[in-house]
Amino acid sequence: MPKDILITGSGPSGLSTALHLVKIAPHLTDRILILEKEHHPRPKLCAGGLAADAEILLQRLGLDVNEVPHVDASAAHLDFAGKGLTISLPNTHALRIIRRNEFDAWLARKARDKGIEIREGVTVKNVQPHDDCVNVETDAGTFTAQIVVGADGSNGITRRCILPNESIHTARVLEVIAPTSNVIASEGRVAPNPRKGRVAYRDQAKQLPIRQEIASAKNTPRNDVHESEGAYFDFFPVPSGIAGYTWDFPTQINGEPMRCWGIYDTNILSYKERPALKEPFAEEMSRHGYDLNQYEIKGHPIRWFSPFNQFAVPRVILVGDAAGADGIFGEGISIALGYGLVAAHAIRDAVERNDFSFRDYRRRILFSPLGQALTIRTAIAHVLYHLHWAWFQKFFWRVFKPVVAGAAWLFVMNWAKRMVLSKSID
Ligand SMILES: Cc1cc2nc3c(=O)[nH]c(=O)nc-3n(C[C@H](O)[C@H](O)[C@H](O)COP(=O)(O)OP(=O)(O)OC[C@H]3O[C@@H](n4cnc5c(N)ncnc54)[C@H](O)[C@@H]3O)c2cc1C
Repeated sequence: MPKDILITGSGPSGLSTALHLVKIAPHLTDRILILEKEHHPRPKLCAGGLAADAEILLQRLGLDVNEVPHVDASAAHLDFAGKGLTISLPNTHALRIIRRNEFDAWLARKARDKGIEIREGVTVKNVQPHDDCVNVETDAGTFTAQIVVGADGSNGITRRCILPNESIHTARVLEVIAPTSNVIASEGRVAPNPRKGRVAYRDQAKQLPIRQEIASAKNTPRNDVHESEGAYFDFFPVPSGIAGYTWDFPTQINGEPMRCWGIYDTNILSYKERPALKEPFAEEMSRHGYDLNQYEIKGHPIRWFSPFNQFAVPRVILVGDAAGADGIFGEGISIALGYGLVAAHAIRDAVERNDFSFRDYRRRILFSPLGQALTIRTAIAHVLYHLHWAWFQKFFWRVFKPVVAGAAWLFVMNWAKRMVLSKSID
């Protein structure tokens, strides 16, 4: 059987495309080949926050993500300068945190169990679509395919080959992994719970210490057992021109509890100057007793979604970060899994109709609950980050919060439930 449905990349988007394809068109299984430049379990820079939508899509594939080592955050705190909106769900976690090396290797194993071939250690160098086939040049020779799925991430070669002039919306992201209790190296002592007590925020734009915020808003302690596993997002850098937030998630490395810290900037405000990310990141960590300089800082871009993006050319379609992740948070794991579902239907229909133009792929994405949620998220990101004044951010996260929570529930989250019930992906 010729391997003529070629998927470049075995991250969540590529693996989800293959797994969904096997589910809805099992006769195509032997025709699928995934090319991956790394070897699983491979490192992937990511905080590993798995939204509930991801769990819904995995369940639909018959996969139990409980098999993957994880930490559950009981609540997600969306704050401005230490105070804001808390999201927690009855009888379940607000956010599940996995490590990507473990999660992706697990998903790849599941794909192999279903008979999908993954060839690791093969780097795609060039993707050239023709009228009757696509040539995929790699460091292991040239492959010829009927269909290519570009699942090779934000910097992927597939998109760069087929859409070299496409405008790029790319977020900047920095991340570090730190212990749960900070060891102050110079003093050789362990700091108290880093989220305990009073923290001071400065007005980033004016660089003045304008207020002191009590982190435990409304006398709710942030450091009790329940809350210590919280996931924190803080939008305090927005007034300084960073269109994003810092995060602090619980995680684990080889079973050892750790915290994953990071800073995200959509670059939506980058028509102004691009402020350095390291300074506010270091400030946020130091507010909680950490010294950023003690940790290895890693960075990677996230390409985010625009409804004006192109997602396909004849014979080649894009999924996951190659097509565009969420713009507000840079959330992309559940999104990548969702693209896989849309792509699988598009591929099955293309093979059935012997029509590889993928003319309707854009419509399939935009009209799916995934595409609708992404479009709304991009719109929200533009509004939220353009209205960057401290008073607005404070109002949005602290005063307006019942409306924010309701809108998020309806329009930002829960798209996967609608997706699995929807006919619009067909
Ligand atoms: C610092 C950071 C933190 C993040 N935190 C979160 C989070 O908490 N929650 C969340 O939902 N999302 C998060 N994201 C986003 C998330 O990581 C991505 O959206 C997600 O990985 C996209 O999946 P993908 O399959 O499209 O691409 P990727 O996961 O990037 O997978 C692409 C695959 O393609 C392979 N590949 C690339 N080039 C080639 C080539 N030329 N040939 C062959 N193979 C190739 C790569 O090795 C890789 O395996 C974060 C991203 C960053 C950078």
